[in-house]
Amino acid sequence: MSVETVDTLVVGGGQAGLAMSEHLGKRGVSHLVLERSRIAESWRTARWDSLVANGPAWHDRFPGLTFDDVDPDGFASKDRLVQYFEAYAQQINSPIRCGVEVKSVEPKADGGFRVETSEGVIEANNVVAATGPFQRPIIPAVVPESAGIHQIHSNHYRNPAQLPEGAVLVVGAGSSGAQIADELLRSGRQVYLAVGPHERPPRAYRGKDFCWWLGVLGHWDATTRGPGMEHVTISVSGARGGHTVDFREFASRGMMLLGRTQGFADGVMTVAPDLVDNLDKGDANYLSVLDEADAYIAAKGLDLPEEPEARKVTPDSICITDPILSLNLAEAGITSIVWATGYAVDFSWLKLDALDDKGRPVHDKGVTSVPGLYFLGLPWLTRRASPFIWGVWHDADYLAGHIAGRSQA
Ligand SMILES: Cc1cc2nc3c(=O)[nH]c(=O)nc-3n(C[C@H](O)[C@H](O)[C@H](O)COP(=O)(O)OP(=O)(O)OC[C@H]3O[C@@H](n4cnc5c(N)ncnc54)[C@H](O)[C@@H]3O)c2cc1C
Repeated sequence: MSVETVDTLVVGGGQAGLAMSEHLGKRGVSHLVLERSRIAESWRTARWDSLVANGPAWHDRFPGLTFDDVDPDGFASKDRLVQYFEAYAQQINSPIRCGVEVKSVEPKADGGFRVETSEGVIEANNVVAATGPFQRPIIPAVVPESAGIHQIHSNHYRNPAQLPEGAVLVVGAGSSGAQIADELLRSGRQVYLAVGPHERPPRAYRGKDFCWWLGVLGHWDATTRGPGMEHVTISVSGARGGHTVDFREFASRGMMLLGRTQGFADGVMTVAPDLVDNLDKGDANYLSVLDEADAYIAAKGLDLPEEPEARKVTPDSICITDPILSLNLAEAGITSIVWATGYAVDFSWLKLDALDDKGRPVHDKGVTSVPGLYFLGLPWLTRRASPFIWGVWHDADYLAGHIAGRSQA
């Protein structure tokens, strides 16, 4: 039986795979994209019902296609994003094959790769792993099943009606945790939210969205997180037209805030005494963006409206001034926990010397030490913007240049 061959195989048909396909096509590199399910599958099945993009439509897109039916300052729904990426695949005439899973990639003795798929073997000179930044939901092993609490990861959260009646504990105050907790509160649930270290930039300031500010201030291009910032998540929201995430404002509407959850025994969750510190650091981050923005406006002599009210702080509620350090779930009426605690990668299908002892990719800007093997779409691949819609497009351009150079050598 003849084996199919291709110059470059892209694994994954999300935004990263499509961006890669566009840039390879532009450079005339023959390639194939394999997607185990459907185009933009993560936006279809790993997001909650009401999710909209965290960035405005002028920003959260590829340069080659605008949203014709979403206000540039509005926020595209997850379903609209799926349509967008489907249309994009057509526009660039991407050679994408859906419903084909890559099972393993191994080195060939004479160079290149042997790729086992659900539909046979393919040989490729180059392989780009574009299988996403968020592959395996992490639920910390804190609350045992025997506790009788309904537990899901944010990856599997869809809407409030999906959870059993009763109060909900949401763990994690990144964009997912904050948005889910707010949605549950607005649906009439009693909500407890465990808030860890976070950044919470203003949604907009002096007439410009934070995506604009992060761009002009150079933050999207930051190449490292900065000292002590290894695990800091960013909390933003495009929900209901977009708003700044303000945990104190959540508390003023009745949400119970906690510090980081630490352990669980006999029905009681122990909580770190770090709520106030985490909120204060989140505020400091918020204010630092305002300060930098003001300085930028002054330095450039821009005529943008003043916004002194942006510096007003929501007064503390009792759960902040007298923080909860242990939470008896039954007494609080908590029947479910939503773990918005992030994801790990799973590259176990890569049978190549490109992973560290924890299975994490080893690379320099997506280029590995295995000739012809590349990663795309990972957090901090080249900079802060790397896992996001517009950032991945630029990283794909860089990798396509590398691959084209290799193909010509
Ligand atoms: C809740 C949430 C909200 C987000 N909101 C935004 C936002 O508003 N704006 C923004 O810019 N970013 C956002 N992101 C970040 C990022 O844009 C998304 O995670 C995006 O889906 C990443 O695109 P990707 O193509 O890298 O990965 P994915 O979209 O995960 O695509 C990877 C694809 O690879 C396929 N695949 C995996 N393994 C295999 C295999 N072995 N063989 C074949 N195919 C395979 C999968 O089926 C999938 O379709 C959000 C992330 C999350 C989790």
